[in-house]
Amino acid sequence: MNILTRQDCERLDIDDPLALFRDEFQLPTNNIYLCGNSLGAMPKAALSVASKVITEQWGTDLVKSWNQHSWFSMAGDLGNLLAKTIGAAPGEVVMTDSTSINLFKVVSAALTLQPQRHKILMEGSNFPTDNYTVQGLLKLLGERYEIVFAEGNEIISAIDESIAVVCLTQVHYKSGCVLDMKAITQRTQAAGAISVWDLCHSAGAMDVDLNGCNVDFAIGCTYKYYNGGPGSPAFIYAASRHHGKGLQPLTGWWGHQAPFNFERDYRPADGITQMLTGTQPIITMAVSKIGIEISSRANIQQVRQKSLALGDIFLQLLETHCAEYGFEVISPTDNTRGSQVALRHEQGYAIMQALIDQGVIGDFRAPDTLRFGLTPLYIRYVDIWDAVMAIKSIMSEQLWQLDKYHHRQAVT
Ligand SMILES: *Cc1c(COP(=O)(O)O)cnc(C)c1O
Repeated sequence: MNILTRQDCERLDIDDPLALFRDEFQLPTNNIYLCGNSLGAMPKAALSVASKVITEQWGTDLVKSWNQHSWFSMAGDLGNLLAKTIGAAPGEVVMTDSTSINLFKVVSAALTLQPQRHKILMEGSNFPTDNYTVQGLLKLLGERYEIVFAEGNEIISAIDESIAVVCLTQVHYKSGCVLDMKAITQRTQAAGAISVWDLCHSAGAMDVDLNGCNVDFAIGCTYKYYNGGPGSPAFIYAASRHHGKGLQPLTGWWGHQAPFNFERDYRPADGITQMLTGTQPIITMAVSKIGIEISSRANIQQVRQKSLALGDIFLQLLETHCAEYGFEVISPTDNTRGSQVALRHEQGYAIMQALIDQGVIGDFRAPDTLRFGLTPLYIRYVDIWDAVMAIKSIMSEQLWQLDKYHHRQAVT
């Protein structure tokens, strides 16, 4: 293996087919932002779009904007834009609410499609909100229902004909490990169960092929790899074969067949619209369109290739320059790694605080994991070089030992 130099990284940046996308983002100077898997960077156009929506639309056209500026159709319009990036057809995706709320909706809908069964298979180590949300739903449904937990390689063999729904996250939030969506969905459906996939750490970062894998339902957020902004609405995918079946239970007026008839009783809308509940956050949704639109222009194969290359180089440099500092790599080292590198170290929290102080922004997940998100649309190969050199200097100079790096803040 050739030992890479910073010049090699500069050369890779020159040859990078995605290099021009970086200029569409506002990135803080003197920082290397490796946290796009938590909150994506701000597209430069965000300020002018927000200002336009606030002053011209809300401020001037007010309620007329629902029609005049297509506020009412925005959830479906953005869903269609996003659909292309996850291998879904027009009319199968809608943007709305948060990932947690959408998970509640799709798991409920999925359970109604398999009413004789009462088990949901999940990964216990998944991002906790997925477990919490399904636990809350099951409390409502009664004691017959239960979650069956299985991890990674155990998943396929844990799927049998007692399972109603298999609810998994494609890329693990901590390790970055990619589950085999095609094989697991196939096994799920062979057992007569319904598949629900959470795409929070995959959509926008890698090629996701929902239709190709015959997935039943999916959800995901837009503030990570789509760079939609803090708290930007999430999305829901429901395969068209399920439209008109499997009612989601938050039956608000936006999911009604004719919301402006103001009827007393709920009648479900046709198609994906039934997944809506109530009024959407129009300002944040309008701003999120910029990032989704940028992603829709990028060649997703190139995005995936660069993401893997950035991670490979990170790991190679870490091995070359930081082998003696006690880091354990918990991400896969092959192409089953998503778009992040995760390391374990017993001083993980303090090391990450020291890194952030040096301008390398990653994050920490308890009890001991350092995460480095690699967003191919704005991270350069030289950033990876500089980040690993910062890790090296913090470790060799033992800067993490300073007292100030040991105080825990609310958000890690
Ligand atoms: C980021 C993430 C979420 C976020 O859920 P919110 O409702 O937006 O807070 C959910 N699930 C997974 C797997 C995530 O990575």
